[in-house]
Amino acid sequence: MTDTYLNLVNAAPFAGVAKRLGLPRPVELRRYRPGAPLVDGPVLLVGTGAGAQELADELLGWDLDVVRHHRPKQRLGAIVLVLDDVTDPTALSAPVLAAAEALRDLRPGGRVVTLSRPAADTTDPAMAAARRGVEGLLRSLAHELRGGATGNGILVRDGLPVTVTSVVGALRFLLSGRSAFVDGQFLTVVDGQGTPDPDADRPLTGKVAVVTGAARGIGAAIARTLHRDGAHVIAVDVPAAGEALAGVANELGGTALQLDITAPDAGERILAHARDRHGRLDVVVHNAGITRDKLLANMDAARWDSVIAVNIAAQLRMNEQFLASDVFGAGGRIVSLASTSGIAGNRGQTNYAASKAGVMGMVAATAGLMPAGATVNAVAPGFIETEMTARIPFATREVARRLNSLQQGGRPTDVAEAIAFLASDAAGGITGQTLRVCGQNLVGA
Ligand code: NAD
Repeated sequence: MTDTYLNLVNAAPFAGVAKRLGLPRPVELRRYRPGAPLVDGPVLLVGTGAGAQELADELLGWDLDVVRHHRPKQRLGAIVLVLDDVTDPTALSAPVLAAAEALRDLRPGGRVVTLSRPAADTTDPAMAAARRGVEGLLRSLAHELRGGATGNGILVRDGLPVTVTSVVGALRFLLSGRSAFVDGQFLTVVDGQGTPDPDADRPLTGKVAVVTGAARGIGAAIARTLHRDGAHVIAVDVPAAGEALAGVANELGGTALQLDITAPDAGERILAHARDRHGRLDVVVHNAGITRDKLLANMDAARWDSVIAVNIAAQLRMNEQFLASDVFGAGGRIVSLASTSGIAGNRGQTNYAASKAGVMGMVAATAGLMPAGATVNAVAPGFIETEMTARIPFATREVARRLNSLQQGGRPTDVAEAIAFLASDAAGGITGQTLRVCGQNLVGA
């Protein structure tokens, strides 16, 4: 779906009018293009600890132009703020203000990424205050950035070096165009699991991935993105969507499996399909989902039960079947679709929000049940331009898509990129979490 206003506001006569009237001025986001540079310009790395220098060396290894001090007027592609060693809120001043001086020189589509430690990992009040302080400052900064620039953070559990594989993997994702619609968010690296991706441009080379609800919308974008990154894709959808499903599978040289995921043996059938054709299953993306909106006062059993059945009960049952199987094993990845409705709540969506909040609860609890090296996470999209959101009445849609820091809706591909990252080998130290892909929704949490 096209965003007519975004095109208009970037064209000559209207651009000036919009600026004078203080109207939203969304810009085309810097998205991943194979072969394009990872970052559009030098990376300023600020931080005094030993970790900061080690990280600078790591970035130099990616052929990036890394600078440790900002020269006035030097245009920057990104600012990385390494704050892993802060022990007191007063210690934030020097590095934060050094980064602040450089902000005006951040290019459109630029990135700010903080690296710090989780406050929950310390019992020292001053250290916890400093650590939570980083989260507050980053979230506010993300609201301030313009020109499609984003700000995100990586929290590194105490005891882990800041150069551990999943920190480096998360940093690469957040710096790149793959994270275009991720803004104001934190990813926590919980352990040292994770191995470097075999190929940075095709990180899923040789993996076998199943995507449910792959016939259209976000699911089709996920299938395309996983395929682009090197995976063999098994595309699943209901028989009624068979033709569109076959189209997606054929386009990607993958296979189609017509299946209603609420069937009691859905997981078994996916496993059998993967075993017969590939002998393995590495990545599961639980994308299929439905809405049946009604105010709770008018809710009926059919609407409530069908949303719970498709959006969460089916995932719980399939995960049990996957975890009991030796086809899905060490190094496996499960990524589920949640929604910001499940975080902030949404009028008319009690059933949907219960199911999507349920997904977040499920992934947090399932993390402890996963085999060695395997992870389970969720992605929570905000307003994404799909057939589902195209059906929202014009005025409501126009408001909903502007109510985030990037002042526009995301694209299905933005959700797909986050899923592809969580499915990668390098993300092995990230589990049990929900990553929002919402442009930093202004509504709710
Ligand atoms: P969509 O309606 O365009 O596509 C969903 C697909 O799932 C369809 O192809 C459908 O046939 C399939 N499906 C539904 N029930 C199924 C079942 N029982 N078995 C197998 N397949 C089934 O939706 P979308 O907008 O692409 O959303 C995809 C996911 O992202 C959903 O989980 C949705 O809740 C979530 N999400 C979407 C948005 C958004 O803005 N579009 C925002 C937040 C979350």
